[in-house]
Amino acid sequence: MIITLKKGSKQKDIKAITDKIKVFGYKPHISKGKDFTVIGMIGEYAEKYKEAFEVIDTVEHVSEIQKPYKLASREFKKENTMVRISRDVEIGGKRIHVIAGPCAIEGKELMINTAKIVKSAGSTILRGGAYKPRSSPYAFQGLGEKGLEYIKNAGVKVHMPTISEAMTVEQVGLVSKYCNIVQIGARNVQNYDLLKAAGKQKKPVLLKRGMATTIKELLLSAEYILSQGNYNVILCERGIRTFETATRFTMDLNAVPVLKKLSHLPVVLDPSHGIGIREHVGTMAKACIAAGADGIIIEVHPQPELALSDGPQSLLPDQFKNLMKELDLVAKAVGRELLY
Ligand code: PEP
Ligand code: MN
Repeated sequence: MIITLKKGSKQKDIKAITDKIKVFGYKPHISKGKDFTVIGMIGEYAEKYKEAFEVIDTVEHVSEIQKPYKLASREFKKENTMVRISRDVEIGGKRIHVIAGPCAIEGKELMINTAKIVKSAGSTILRGGAYKPRSSPYAFQGLGEKGLEYIKNAGVKVHMPTISEAMTVEQVGLVSKYCNIVQIGARNVQNYDLLKAAGKQKKPVLLKRGMATTIKELLLSAEYILSQGNYNVILCERGIRTFETATRFTMDLNAVPVLKKLSHLPVVLDPSHGIGIREHVGTMAKACIAAGADGIIIEVHPQPELALSDGPQSLLPDQFKNLMKELDLVAKAVGRELLY
């Protein structure tokens, strides 16, 4: 249920409503729009208290959210959410951000070198996995906390915020300590304890769609994070599994306009994992931007043939540099900005 306050409502009016919500045993969720403040009272049987709020004279109206995901829906919040990552980086506005770096953090020097390469090409967020979800238990599993130290160090050196994946509840705390964004990977999109843990900490969360999750399920997973009080969630489409075997996954570009219609949350796309073939990553990255992405993730490695993870889809430094210029042109063509 959402309670919309009258235009120009004061802090004390908001408090009166949130106190009442708490008395009924629910958690209030406040969203301040340009003109109106709306307060979400979400939970089982919340609607039975509708009249108790309708009679308050500072309340404009009370309505029920029809969608199963509440806080993630456009019904709850009309304006696009902008997620602040650092002083200069905000995802969800006019500027498209390119998150780039190696698939896995392989060492201190590699991380610094790659950070310099991607930063000079115009990327604004540095990526790298310290905990890697690998299909084979014999494949490189990541450097763990040491890796997080390396990505943090590289980020500080080149002045770039960082993102890394957490696969367990304990890792959420570690990633959140070292990095600016906590990534929840495709394989964990429905790991509900993990989602709750990500919702309980303060850093923004990038939530990847699973290879077999529907758009509705992705939004319900986002709801787990939002319902814990962390409203800084970025959705990420990274390809789904279909009958097609010529590419690693099938990039669901349809998800962009559909997610944007259903939700106020920013949408980032990952063409590297989506197609999984270096030669075609650039083409799909351009398509992602044309489709309306607020950001994209590109894996870049100075020597992909030696990479410990996802070498075949990682771009070479020069490829990345050239691609960034092309992406800038596409961004401009769709009324966005990319390079400064
Ligand atoms: C990654 O970004 O390194 C990754 C493992 O992605 P996904 O969860 O989409 O497979
Ligand atoms: Mn990867």
